[in-house]
Amino acid sequence: MAAEQFDQVADFLELNDELRERCKWPKRLITVTIPVRHDDGSTQVYFGHRVQHHLTRGPVKGGLRFHPDVELGEVAALAMWMNWKCALMDLPFGGGKGGVNCDPRHLSLGEQERITRRYTMEMIPFIGEEIDVMAPDMGTNEQTMAWMLDTYSTHAGHLVPGIVTGKPINLQGSAGRTRATGHGVAFLASRALNKLGVALRSASAVVQGFGNVGLHTALTLASYGVDVRGISDVTGALWSEKGIDVQKLSDHVAKTGGVVGFDGADAIDPAEMLCQPCDVLAPAACGMVITGANAPRLQCKVLVEGANGPTTPEADAVFEKRGDIFVVPDVLANAGGVTVSYFEWVQNLQRYRWTEREVLTRLETILEGAFNRVLQFAERHGLAHRTAAQALAIQTVAEVKSQRGMFP
Ligand code: GLU
Repeated sequence: MAAEQFDQVADFLELNDELRERCKWPKRLITVTIPVRHDDGSTQVYFGHRVQHHLTRGPVKGGLRFHPDVELGEVAALAMWMNWKCALMDLPFGGGKGGVNCDPRHLSLGEQERITRRYTMEMIPFIGEEIDVMAPDMGTNEQTMAWMLDTYSTHAGHLVPGIVTGKPINLQGSAGRTRATGHGVAFLASRALNKLGVALRSASAVVQGFGNVGLHTALTLASYGVDVRGISDVTGALWSEKGIDVQKLSDHVAKTGGVVGFDGADAIDPAEMLCQPCDVLAPAACGMVITGANAPRLQCKVLVEGANGPTTPEADAVFEKRGDIFVVPDVLANAGGVTVSYFEWVQNLQRYRWTEREVLTRLETILEGAFNRVLQFAERHGLAHRTAAQALAIQTVAEVKSQRGMFP
């Protein structure tokens, strides 16, 4: 999907063969084995990957995911998307992504810690504050980042706060980082609704996924006065015509581990939930959930992509034909996370702290700027928002590669 989208944009930009090849292929693909002793005494070898797409504009930036389906090709695609995301936001980073094919839902904390520390140890020759800075993604969180920071810093002999972002605040994490991705998703949804002339107080939303991104998307939308009618996670889906109390649902999930069984809403089929009438649909879980099969049935006005790669090219083709859905593509919609990661890294390098208000104000300024650039470019060239966003980003990377020239 990532390569297909790249080719389409490269055609539009009329990139010459040299730049096309240099922009398309990742600089480094690193795969390591991670032998781990489970609590029951058994051992297993997991595979850990890190793809560094390019280092042309600065260190590589992007998350580390723990999921049983992780494989190198997917990590490479996600690394490529991180490139475009960083370039579109004008952050001085290239894109990267990491993954381990383990299932954190079925691992104890101790097992997760051993996997994380061994993965970090194996990556030490390839990472650094100026080389590659990881962050949370699916299945990882600020605790994972704390273990990574500790492993790397123990090896270095001193604290290296800028080695990861999305760390706990006490370990020089940034105010606002935890909520940043969801905050950005909701903020851009509100900008899209504003363009369509829909008032926030009369708007409704459906959020797929209730991890860090889904939770904070739903909380921020609710704080704007939007009725969040549908919410789902891996355990099931909920629906309430008058809106779900997101904070109460979050307390329920903290106690029970999933959204099912929440008494403030009815159960609904998770696939059907996506097709219910609503103003905003925010897929905030895994990739390839909006497909050629369900795209014709969607009844949202705005599709804001909290997840990476939730929409297949077949679904995009349906949206082009329909013309009635305002798409805020992933590289824009969920860029709040990496943007505040950038702020965290800057604060770490400066040994300085910003307030949450400063962080969120700067975040909204950057998101708003990118949103307007994408809309203007799309309008000027008659492009879909996704193509416009990727074209702006790829153009930036191609220009820098061309300016730096080819070595030797
Ligand atoms: N994992 C997040 C993403 O996909 C955040 C990456 C980061 O903060 O570096 O954008």
